[in-house]
Amino acid sequence: MNTEQSRKPAARLKLRVSAAAEAALREGHPWVFAEAVREQSRAGQTGELAVVYDRQDRFLAVGLFDADSPIRLRALQVGRPEPIDAGWWAGRLEQALERRRGLFDARTTGYRWIHGENDGWPGLVLDRYDGTLVLKLYTAAWLPRLDRIAALVIERLRPERVVLRLGRNVRDIAASRFSRTDGDLLHGAAPAGPVVFLESGLRFEADVLRGQKTGFFLDQRENRRRVEGLARGRRVLNAFSYSGAFSLYAARGGASSVTDLDVSEHALAGAERNFALNQGNGAVASCARETVRAEAFDWLGASADKRFDLIILDPPSLARRQAEQAGAIRAYERLVGMGLARLAPGGVLAACSCSAHVSADQFFGAARKAAARSARPMRELQTTGHPPDHPAAFKEAHYLKAIFFEAGRRK
Ligand code: SAH
Repeated sequence: MNTEQSRKPAARLKLRVSAAAEAALREGHPWVFAEAVREQSRAGQTGELAVVYDRQDRFLAVGLFDADSPIRLRALQVGRPEPIDAGWWAGRLEQALERRRGLFDARTTGYRWIHGENDGWPGLVLDRYDGTLVLKLYTAAWLPRLDRIAALVIERLRPERVVLRLGRNVRDIAASRFSRTDGDLLHGAAPAGPVVFLESGLRFEADVLRGQKTGFFLDQRENRRRVEGLARGRRVLNAFSYSGAFSLYAARGGASSVTDLDVSEHALAGAERNFALNQGNGAVASCARETVRAEAFDWLGASADKRFDLIILDPPSLARRQAEQAGAIRAYERLVGMGLARLAPGGVLAACSCSAHVSADQFFGAARKAAARSARPMRELQTTGHPPDHPAAFKEAHYLKAIFFEAGRRK
């Protein structure tokens, strides 16, 4: 099982990096890009540990080497050398669990245990959906030690099953070199049906084997709670609804109607099932529900006569790379403008962005510009960021932001 120790160990891989990369590591940035590597003691293999030495030949960091990614090293430990052994990994897991202690009661059984770099587990995510854990890898560097990491997690958390999910960039390497496939079971049996879990007392399905991310958007929990508190008596439009979670919170909060709008049939079918799962709640049962399958920009532009009292806009990332940043900022401004135009007097709009390549300032700036251009006065209610189980510890980790506006009562 422990291939690293059963082979005669090669000498530890050593790196020297640019002065800028050294400074970044010291400041807590976890990545060293390939072009910042100045010296390398030998060819390295994806997944082995590499040590970075500084100009004075002192230990600077140890991390996961990744020969297959432009992010050549992901730091595990910076500043003080420590043996990266079983006890170290167990301690690292404990820190992540400790950080979430007391955040969730029994009414929430779906949340993130490990949020990658921000919890000292670069490129690795661990989500809980009741008895099911989903371990998702965004770098192949974890694959050589996957069995050991899974064993540690299973021993500590005692889940019913553990599902392996693989980021797009990892899938080919996982199949060809490690015989691993997206959706593999690392522990326990495949679920007989969809995995059902609780978020704030509401029941949801998670599509853990095939769904986006790890099967559900766990990062929007706090914004959904805000929406629930704003929903009483309101007609709600949930644009980019995915599995309808914002709508369910709104319904429980007393919304008179909810409209789920998504381009994906599959997403809308999931939303329908989630609504059905919560019919035991009186407010949900008495809320009118409608679905619209459409491209949201087109639909918002075309349905000028339709008004809502509460609108949620939660599009997918509009900038998948840096080059798309300027276009994304313009798209956010247009989207928020169209949303604001659909608000009834006194209505509230919640606009979200999950693009890491658009900063909070850029997104809020675009949204405020749309609000200033609106025909009516718009009052900014609040802005929000990351939930506590998705901490953001370095610049690129900040992706989630939302801004809430209230439309003036005058026409
Ligand atoms: N708000 C959701 C998450 C949204 S994920 C939640 O709380 O869980 C983004 C969703 O937008 C996906 O369901 C995707 O199908 C949908 N989508 C992507 N592009 C779209 C478009 N142009 N118009 C409408 N929906 C779109």
